[in-house]
Amino acid sequence: MRTILLLPILLFLACSKDTPPQSGSSRVFYEIFLRSFSDSDGDGIGDIRGLIEKLDYLEELGVGGIWLMPVHPSKSYHKYDVMDYYGIDPEYGTMADFRELLAEAHRRDMQVIIDLVLNHTDDEHPWFQAALDGPESPFRSFYVWADPDTITEERHLWHQQPADGDKKNQTNEYFYGFFWKGMPDLNYDYPPVRDSLIRIGKYWLENVGVDGFRLDGALFIYPYYHSRRDEYLPKTIAWWTDFHREMEAVHPNTFLVGEVWQSDSVLLSFLSSGLDAAFHFDLSRAILQTVKAGYDTLGLARLDADYQTQFGLYSFANPQRTDALFLTNHDQDRLRSELDGNWDQAKMAAALLLTLPGTPFIYYGEELGMLGKKPDERIREPFPWGQGPGQTSWEPVEYNTPENTPPLSLQKKDEHSLWNHYRRLIHFRNEQPVMEEGRIQPFDAALPDGTLGFYRQDQDRRLLVLHQLGASKAVIFTGTDRRLLFSTDPETILTGDTLRLMPYSTAVLE
Ligand code: CA
Repeated sequence: MRTILLLPILLFLACSKDTPPQSGSSRVFYEIFLRSFSDSDGDGIGDIRGLIEKLDYLEELGVGGIWLMPVHPSKSYHKYDVMDYYGIDPEYGTMADFRELLAEAHRRDMQVIIDLVLNHTDDEHPWFQAALDGPESPFRSFYVWADPDTITEERHLWHQQPADGDKKNQTNEYFYGFFWKGMPDLNYDYPPVRDSLIRIGKYWLENVGVDGFRLDGALFIYPYYHSRRDEYLPKTIAWWTDFHREMEAVHPNTFLVGEVWQSDSVLLSFLSSGLDAAFHFDLSRAILQTVKAGYDTLGLARLDADYQTQFGLYSFANPQRTDALFLTNHDQDRLRSELDGNWDQAKMAAALLLTLPGTPFIYYGEELGMLGKKPDERIREPFPWGQGPGQTSWEPVEYNTPENTPPLSLQKKDEHSLWNHYRRLIHFRNEQPVMEEGRIQPFDAALPDGTLGFYRQDQDRRLLVLHQLGASKAVIFTGTDRRLLFSTDPETILTGDTLRLMPYSTAVLE
């Protein structure tokens, strides 16, 4: 009797060990720089209403979540220096527009997360302006101050106060600003700062209704490049753990993805408790290197499997936990520029991104093969819509002319375009839960040069994913009783137990 009662419990435990995370954290996200995306009122600057008009486009592509780069009032074009955490920059629209965007996105089952820039404010933020009044100001301790004579290291991160005749009680103290003097760092040792930032997060979750945050500069909360970084890193992680707990108290499924531009070992410490995900920079470079080389130089499948096992993607400790995959973002040269314009390699990068476990993030226009190299404005050029409304023109186009990057209206009509390749891969992923949430396991059979293979597996199914990274056709013995479920090239065929995999193409077998 006892054995019978125990059996279901044992079965449950056995299954749960290998069960991947629930929730929508595996959906495909799309990073948007509003200014360059879609303009609704003809001033050339992309805006929220312009994005609302393009939600059908994102749905057609298969996108399940949007990451909006900063929307708060700011004096910079990129808005990573915030002047009002509770507002929407008038260039982008109004809070009413933003609420409508959320309603329209949610109606399409799309999540919306916003960039939250909590490491620093703009130097014109009222907190900093008040802090400049001097040591007696109630906001003085919102920022980090030091007597210049006592600053012995990293002096370039400390800045003189602006000369301002109106300010009283000024001292000669310097303030800390990691990025530059226009972005003074907030003082996380001062509890009112923490309380203020938690209130801001709760406001956007509770009163406005966003689904989570992309946390800018999550590494730099306490000065990282400092002789005492071993002391500061745990404090930074403890802060995000507190923040996470507070956000989950008002919105249990809050998705927090951090920008921690570091190696896997540092990421793992952030994922241990503080964040649901951190952008996987090492993996993005590994994908790029693999695609460029035309063969799997790094043991890509094994690399990712090891990483995901280490950070506990498959544990139930945090069901939101996921691996934030991407190829490039708004701080990096555009993918196709990294590939010297090569369309075949751009397709392979997309295929790797969209067949690995985790939450893929696509930087706007990557699906069209947009080009661009730094400076930053050049990697954030207007999305080329071609025909139809919405085209932004806030800056002249240098890289993405129609000759270099065929606009969306043309790529849609071309069955072989990069855009159609992305659309097919995303929809295949969306339709197969095992591709979203199954774990990755290396495929150890001998494969021809240039072929990369791995399994995606959950409790119910095991799919074999094969990528031919090079310019030659591959003939692969796949074992018997397989079925070709998906391929990116119609000439890829499975005959009996032999797969003929076309160059620069991907096949998925069941
Ligand atoms: Ca506009």
